[in-house]
Amino acid sequence: MTRETPRKRVAVIGATGSVGSSVLEVCRRSRDDIEVVALAAHTNCEKLLSLGREFGAKMLSATAPEAVKTLKAHAGGVFQVFQGPEGLLFMAQSEEVDHIVFASSGTDAIPALQVALRAGKEVSLANKESVVLGGPWVMPLVRYPDQLRPLDSEHNALWQCLHGENIRNVRRLYLTASGGPFRTFSREELKKVTPDMALKHPVWAMGAKITIDSATLMNKGIELIEAMYLFNLEAEQLKALISPGSFVHGLVEFQDGFVKMLAGDPDMTLPAASCLFWPRRSSLFECSALEGRTLSFEAPDEERFPSIRLAKEVMRKKGPYPALLIGADEVAVERFLRRQISFTDIPEVIESTLESCHLPTPEKLEDAFVLSDWARAQCANFCDARE
Ligand code: NDP
Ligand code: MG
Repeated sequence: MTRETPRKRVAVIGATGSVGSSVLEVCRRSRDDIEVVALAAHTNCEKLLSLGREFGAKMLSATAPEAVKTLKAHAGGVFQVFQGPEGLLFMAQSEEVDHIVFASSGTDAIPALQVALRAGKEVSLANKESVVLGGPWVMPLVRYPDQLRPLDSEHNALWQCLHGENIRNVRRLYLTASGGPFRTFSREELKKVTPDMALKHPVWAMGAKITIDSATLMNKGIELIEAMYLFNLEAEQLKALISPGSFVHGLVEFQDGFVKMLAGDPDMTLPAASCLFWPRRSSLFECSALEGRTLSFEAPDEERFPSIRLAKEVMRKKGPYPALLIGADEVAVERFLRRQISFTDIPEVIESTLESCHLPTPEKLEDAFVLSDWARAQCANFCDARE
């Protein structure tokens, strides 16, 4: 893109959240190249309005009726205001959008993601639940190479490493994890972890759900499943590696024994810029000093952090399990944050939920949503039993 070429018109779903803020920071610093035309959030209408005004957006959307009312009251003829799923669907196929970023939490945006891919829009995808729950109904909709750009830092790293490579030459992909705040905790210490302790991540500043998932390592488990669908690999080809400091994000081991890895400062604005600018590289960032840096990699301890083992089982079995995992984990994290279950209960109630399911493989996305809802209710029962 140069000043002569038109600016890329971008929509951001989840604009008021942590990843959304990183994406908008890139947009803020790239006004010659990027025009933000549409923003969506769930309830935070004040922030949405302020972002809408700052970027001169044309479309705003919120889910909560109260938020929509406020948006309409303050739209002043400047913004087109939409509500809920319809708003996301409208933005996903709008002629005025070239590139759409999915940075919302939860699974509500999956239908809009499908529509955006079908419409041929460039898509940046941070929302991992979309691929884990909806992979079989999302991935076949990708129409051209690099249409779907992974924004999650590990997948973004792997995507960059795989450029120019034949996926058949890949032996294994490694996703790194910082190990979270409790990497060195004993099992006894883990039992006493409180929400306040778990909400302080040593490296990344993120939304509450993913911060807790990072502490249990379920985030890494979910990311392994995400990578399996994104890169169309077998369960055995994906591994997690603990790398404190999170400077290396992903590694690709090829059949000839070489390993390609991608490093960079742990800051979501970097993958956000790579997605928005690809195949160009922005000149927005500079890497912090390399001198004195050491890299280390170790296997995650699946005894202390059973989430990785659970995710591996889910990957091997597939069927209803990815959708169940997403639903059960959401509830388990919610209940932990409300202090209704302990930190070490989280993987246990998820495992009980997975084990108690005898439902068949979903045939369509709607079935996967039903399974996920079933897992939410079932997991809530297991949580109640522990209170
Ligand atoms: P946050 O909780 O910080 O933000 C979530 C965002 O989604 C908010 O803007 C929220 O709006 C919006 N939202 C929620 N539901 C809807 C909906 N139905 N329609 C439109 N917008 C909605 O989460 P994060 O930014 O941390 O994470 C977002 C996603 O990105 C998750 O899937 C996460 O796993 C993934 N991710 C996050 C990373 C990070 O660094 N944070 C890194 C890699 C991936 P409101 O503010 O109104 O509630
Ligand atoms: Mg990640």
